Amino acid sequence: MTEAPRLPLSGGCRNEPILKQRGQREVFCGLTGIIWLHRKMQDAFFLVIGSRTCAHLLQSAAGVMIFAEPRFGTAILEESDLAGMADAQAELDKVVDQLLARRTDIKQLFLVGSCPSEVIKLDLARAAERMTERYAPSVRVLNFSGSGIETTFTQGEDACLAAMVPVLPKTAERQLLLVGALPDVVEEQAVSLLSDMGIGPIKVLPAPRADADLGLGENTVFALTQPFLGDTHAALDRRGARHLPAPFPFGEEGTTAWLRVIAEEFGVDAETFDKVTAAPRARARKAIAQASETLRGKSIFFFPDSQLEIPLARFLTRECGMDAIEISAPFIHKGIVGPDLDLLAQGPTFSEGQDVDLQLDRCRQARPDLTVCGLGLANPLEAEGLATKWAIELVFTPVHFYEQAGDLAGLFSRPLRRADLLHLEAT
Ligand code: SF4
Repeated sequence: MTEAPRLPLSGGCRNEPILKQRGQREVFCGLTGIIWLHRKMQDAFFLVIGSRTCAHLLQSAAGVMIFAEPRFGTAILEESDLAGMADAQAELDKVVDQLLARRTDIKQLFLVGSCPSEVIKLDLARAAERMTERYAPSVRVLNFSGSGIETTFTQGEDACLAAMVPVLPKTAERQLLLVGALPDVVEEQAVSLLSDMGIGPIKVLPAPRADADLGLGENTVFALTQPFLGDTHAALDRRGARHLPAPFPFGEEGTTAWLRVIAEEFGVDAETFDKVTAAPRARARKAIAQASETLRGKSIFFFPDSQLEIPLARFLTRECGMDAIEISAPFIHKGIVGPDLDLLAQGPTFSEGQDVDLQLDRCRQARPDLTVCGLGLANPLEAEGLATKWAIELVFTPVHFYEQAGDLAGLFSRPLRRADLLHLEAT
């Protein structure tokens, strides 16, 4: 089999000190995940129990109005609804009854909590149990929180998938489970590469439909496709499934390393592995080389946002020639991103959590060529002459696996080229 990725001569970063900060944060909330999850789960409906702010977030971010029959909505609880919790529960039951009577296509209903204190007081787990009893077996009702308090936007997907794991049936079948919501075309590429190596059966979480043949057990091994799935990882572990830790499939090297870990688990021989991966690897290398010309030797600073920061820093430093100054993530789960940390050369500062003012000071002092951050920070930093990349775009754009590797590098080179052009025009 092709050789394993070379470890950095300076040693990896798994044991590097991490600056832990708690203070004001600038991130979207977990409701954002509904925007991509509703596309993946075709018979699911996400009912946000929230305020008008939550409704506005979903409507503006997801363009809910363009759907004739949207698959997410908001039950807005007015103060009068919340005068008594019994009233609020009754109101919720009424909304769900009306929704399920009108929409018989819904097979999975998610009650999604939010952060207004009145909503936090509502016991949505009990509500979901009560409704499951009423609507089983035709509708499965689950709950999770998308609250913006102490969470970041990708945790919405984690909370949703973690809620699904306990109710999946048991199976003794030896199987591979791919965990994480990917655009369909990207998911198909991954399944096709693995199937061509003779690996199977392959299941995915989230499955497109509630009645998909998806069970879990001690003979299930799982590979994460997204690094922000800590709670889902723990829930799968509790069900006896075994995690295959690997670098994440970003870029040619990351994709090859991720595939290799799975291939070794399933006893795929070196010749088969090379035969299946050789052509897409060559295409990925070529595409990255073209797209990363602008990136070579440039510095990058990551604010904590999507939780993709560590695997992306590994890709950008090792495959695109960038220098990372600071790599921060909302949470650093070494059981998940440890293999990426092993491949990162020592040098950058690692930070977990955020005290935004202190971090802005560090960024201003470092004057990186490119800063990856949330929308709220991007405009002020651009006004100060720093080129920025919005972290949220990385979650909405297909960036995993070989065929997207060039596009992934391109997402980072575009803002640098734009900054160069603006600079030229100004001079
Ligand atoms: Fe705002 Fe909280 Fe609703 Fe998110 S869940 S839109 S942070 S009120």
